[in-house]
Amino acid sequence: MNQHTRTVPRPEVAGGPPAAHGRTGVVVVGSVNADLLTTVDQHPRPGETVLGRTLDVLPGGKGANQAVAAAQLGAQTALVGAVGSDQFAEPALAGLQAAGVDLGAVTAVEGSTGVAQVTVSADGENAIVVIPGANASVDDVVVDAYAELVGGAAVVVVQGEIPRTGIEAAARHTQGRLVVNLAPVVDVDREVLLAADPLVVNEHEAALVLAMLDASSGPVEAASSGTPSSGAEVPDGVATGSSTTGKATTGSAPEETEPEDTAVETDRGTADDEQRVVDALLAHGVPSVVLTVGARGALVVDGSGTTLVPSPRVEAVDTTGAGDAFVGALAYRLSEGDGLVEAARLAARVGAYAVRGSGAQPSYPWAGDPLPETI
Ligand code: ADP
Repeated sequence: MNQHTRTVPRPEVAGGPPAAHGRTGVVVVGSVNADLLTTVDQHPRPGETVLGRTLDVLPGGKGANQAVAAAQLGAQTALVGAVGSDQFAEPALAGLQAAGVDLGAVTAVEGSTGVAQVTVSADGENAIVVIPGANASVDDVVVDAYAELVGGAAVVVVQGEIPRTGIEAAARHTQGRLVVNLAPVVDVDREVLLAADPLVVNEHEAALVLAMLDASSGPVEAASSGTPSSGAEVPDGVATGSSTTGKATTGSAPEETEPEDTAVETDRGTADDEQRVVDALLAHGVPSVVLTVGARGALVVDGSGTTLVPSPRVEAVDTTGAGDAFVGALAYRLSEGDGLVEAARLAARVGAYAVRGSGAQPSYPWAGDPLPETI
């Protein structure tokens, strides 16, 4: 199962001081990638060669992005993950090092580092190829080795870019609060979803998770009877939805393309749909859900009701990694003892900050940077 278990010396890293056991604020169990970002005028068709404009090698991966976001804001943060033995390990770890993330639980394994090859055309369309590389080695065996670190964290964060057994092991070892950002949506044991407090997803991912819960049998099924299903389908064990890097550029939200006179109706329909999906997730037993809704902010739903946390209005330059900035900031504030709505308010401001700059990690704020205000 774990074909990459042979470890090799990790590239020289200068992460923050090792976190004292039991005192780490945020532990992220997740992916580390090097993003190879190419810009082109137009995407090549199969068989075609085009000249590109630029090539940048940037640190990425949802796990690393979220750890960087939390650490830069001031959280004592550690990452459980893996890089390969190739030349991409160093650039993949660069942002984590700069942010002072504890990298003591990042294993170096034989083979390639996770790589996302992102090509963005002049009109903002992106095409992405993700090579999981070393991320595929972060399974239960690896995560079990860091059970104490995970168990000692105030907040543990997982995403969908490592094997499901790694996600499930992280959930098992969590004694603090578990934040599950199931992006991309992978088939995980429902226990993970029932421990997610919160589950952070966008609308597309929420529908897929709901379909997964609807499809799985179990005693909580009775609690959800009468709850409308989204009708979405999750292919067995297949990752769906977000890419490693998220959306590469801004674009109009689908509803913005609706004719003016139907916009209000459409918005109301969307809001109703969103509420229905999150209500159904809660009916299945998910303790709380944070549904991110792009420029509109986030819907925070728990047993006490629904709160729309608006995002500050900003001029969006590049939405890449905004969702990860949101999750990292949310984890940071939760680890400091904020309530979910309070934490989401800060997270929405951090997400908005991130869309004002290019790239993922380079666009994240540091503690003390002025965040956009929600009007
Ligand atoms: P994902 O990329 O995972 O789908 P979203 O697009 O919902 O996530 O973005 C996550 C968060 O980033 C939002 O909740 C919001 O706070 C912020 N955000 C995203 N896009 C914008 C935008 N255009 N303007 C302001 N804030 C934004």
